[in-house]
Amino acid sequence: MKVLVPVKRVLDYNVKARVKPDQSGVDLSNVKMSMNPFDEIAVEEAVRMQEKSVATETIAVSIGPAKAQETIRTALAMGVDRGVHVTTDEDLEPLAVAKILKAVAEAEGAELILMGKQAIDNDYGATGGMLSAMLGWPIGQYANTIETKEGALTVKREIDGGLQTVELRLPAVVTTDLRLNEPRYASLPNIMKAKRKPIEAKTPADYGVDTAPRLTVVKVTEPKTREAGVKVEDAAALVDKLKNEAGVI
Ligand code: AMP
Repeated sequence: MKVLVPVKRVLDYNVKARVKPDQSGVDLSNVKMSMNPFDEIAVEEAVRMQEKSVATETIAVSIGPAKAQETIRTALAMGVDRGVHVTTDEDLEPLAVAKILKAVAEAEGAELILMGKQAIDNDYGATGGMLSAMLGWPIGQYANTIETKEGALTVKREIDGGLQTVELRLPAVVTTDLRLNEPRYASLPNIMKAKRKPIEAKTPADYGVDTAPRLTVVKVTEPKTREAGVKVEDAAALVDKLKNEAGVI
């Protein structure tokens, strides 16, 4: 089974996002960028499948600027076989990303696409669903556990307050949730080895994909800053404030 793992380069999850003064988006100048954490989980799962000889080949694909190559190298250092870098300086919306991923999956003959449930930069959480619909493949979202069997997968999905078990016929799309696994750190020898693994350079045009935007980001704003708290004399004063000022009781 060939496994395709889409990996996105995003603002590192430890970095506090700053909104640009013109509110057009998050300021990405001089900030640490890393692989989207949910994609790291997908890479880990793909590598484990390969170690169990369930996956015959693993391919990481990233759509983005030249630096997205670093994200692919990280996946290669974790154990993925090879990469595909679809170069674009545009910040593509999920529909365009899904169209490109569909074309890559078809060109590569992938049977499983293991991807993040959402990218933590824009929080769309839309690409996996769009991709499975376009391919006509089933999708197991928010995977907590994945078991493979002949021609199918059993996926335990994280749902509100519990787990739902579904069975998917291959080919399929699976999106990862936080508890699926704990991604490994790449060892130094594997980082060195990854430098020699191949990354194929492509463009959206190579796949004949129309990436013209259908969606416009109108503005991005910072969350409201919390106001300072006040001390109240007694429970009666607290109840009064909750009732008459906050209006919550
Ligand atoms: P989103 O729908 O934008 O929240 O992204 C969901 C998932 O789609 C991510 O976790 C990635 O696996 C994949 N994805 C989104 N954008 C890209 C990209 N530019 N390159 C590669 N994979 C992507």
